[in-house]
Amino acid sequence: NAVVHWYKCDLRTKDNKSLHLASQKAKEKGAPLIAMYIVSPQDFEAHLTAPVRVDFILRTLEVLKADLAKLDIPLYVETIEKRKKIPGRILELLQEWGASHLFANAEYEVDELRREAQMVRDCLDQDIAMDVVPDTCVVAPGELTSGTGKQYSVYTPWFRAWVAHIHNNTKLLDLFDAPGKNPSTARTQFPKLFNSPIPDAPNNMKLSAEERKKFRAMWPPGEEEAHERLKKFADERIGGYSARRNFPADNWTSSLSVHFASGTLSARTAVRTARDHNNTKKLDGGSEGIKTWISEVAWRDFYKHVLVHWPYVCMNKPFKPEYTNITWEYNQQHFQAWCEGRTGYPIVDAAMRQLNYCGWMHNRCRMIVGSFLAKHLLLDWRMGERYFMEHLIDGDFASNNGGWGFSASTGVDPQPYFRIFNPLLQSEKFDLEGEYIRKWVPELKGVEGKAIHEPYARGSGKLAQKNGYPERIVDHKESRDRCLARYKEGLGRD
Ligand code: FAD
Repeated sequence: NAVVHWYKCDLRTKDNKSLHLASQKAKEKGAPLIAMYIVSPQDFEAHLTAPVRVDFILRTLEVLKADLAKLDIPLYVETIEKRKKIPGRILELLQEWGASHLFANAEYEVDELRREAQMVRDCLDQDIAMDVVPDTCVVAPGELTSGTGKQYSVYTPWFRAWVAHIHNNTKLLDLFDAPGKNPSTARTQFPKLFNSPIPDAPNNMKLSAEERKKFRAMWPPGEEEAHERLKKFADERIGGYSARRNFPADNWTSSLSVHFASGTLSARTAVRTARDHNNTKKLDGGSEGIKTWISEVAWRDFYKHVLVHWPYVCMNKPFKPEYTNITWEYNQQHFQAWCEGRTGYPIVDAAMRQLNYCGWMHNRCRMIVGSFLAKHLLLDWRMGERYFMEHLIDGDFASNNGGWGFSASTGVDPQPYFRIFNPLLQSEKFDLEGEYIRKWVPELKGVEGKAIHEPYARGSGKLAQKNGYPERIVDHKESRDRCLARYKEGLGRD
């Protein structure tokens, strides 16, 4: 007899609903609790998981395994090459362990929802109860509807409803206890499971030794690390978040996205911690910094709700179907220049180089480079969406898809397509002194003053050229005009 928790994107012991329920069930039955994680190289590929993210997940598993062992819970890890084989193999394992219950937190991408629905039926056939529970969002998808019973597709009214819903159901911010130390039944009944090794990254996703060293130092894994980071942010920076979050050189945001994406931190814990730092104990009042940060964490919930209600966004389709008719460019040279940070637009290039080096990019810059790809280069936004997933340590389908929909105007954002970010103005506004650019584009280190924002047009062309910095690959005004015409034409077509 055993109770099993299946870990996916929820790699923590604290405030984990499924793990908590599994542990309660184990206690009630006097049965051992087993935690399980399946590594599927094909799944990583299907989700375009970045090698840096795979590395982070595997490093997190090492920490999680040690954390669970202290509670006498084994973390069993198995590699299953083909994703189709996962459900069948899990069923075999459950039978081998004589498990009566399987618990898991829900994932909302279409493939995962379908898989889990089938698994619930397959488990039932074997007299095993499978519970898939909502956990990743603070407010579960489906809980919020507008006055007319419709789903919200616009953030602002949705956010008002989100806040009101939590204020009316304050228990939603109650944290789930970590499992207590389990009576050592698992140690006696399943001693071998405690020695289950964490595999290396699949061959096609391995980082070089140098990269591994770099990312280990940059992104330490684990739940404790996530909590420390959250505490430090809430104690020291959250108050100034609203005023300083948009300036990439400031580094004033929480950098917690990697922990939300792998589940080392729950959104519930984050929102509750922020709220408790606020004198008003409200989500939408008091400190500007705190309420703005909570509203940003809410965007994560919002995009997951969008994914659940309009699942076709999972199938490479734009949220707004009428945008299907836009004729995109597929200019490989332009795409390559964008990927490498060699577009001749310093703010765009700095941002892409930050992504390539860190596996992370500041939010303001994600918007700038996203708009640049879709509007200035008229490249298919799905090329950018894909590149981001393949390189982000915090790659999350719903947030990434939502962000790209925003950037290309094909998503839920109600702003019309003719809002086109001007990279020069963005650069002058958000990187006034050029500090961020100088950090990431060493060719421009010696460029002084405002020339940093467009060296060739402001008298620093010689220096830029000498250092091998490229001229602009497209002209701003021409690109803008081309974009407006192309979107208009696309939307005019049936
Ligand atoms: P903070 O500013 O400290 O915000 C706290 C948390 O709120 C974040 O960790 C994140 O979970 C959430 N959040 C903040 N802004 C957003 C947003 N706009 N949308 C959704 N959630 C948000 N975020 C991802 O987690 N994964 C992605 O793959 C991703 N891709 C993006 C692609 C584009 C084109 C754009 C414009 C945005 C994308 N974002 C993505 C959202 C956002 O840029 C990051 O969440 C943020 O930069 C992470 O840094 P942070 O943790 O310091 O954020």
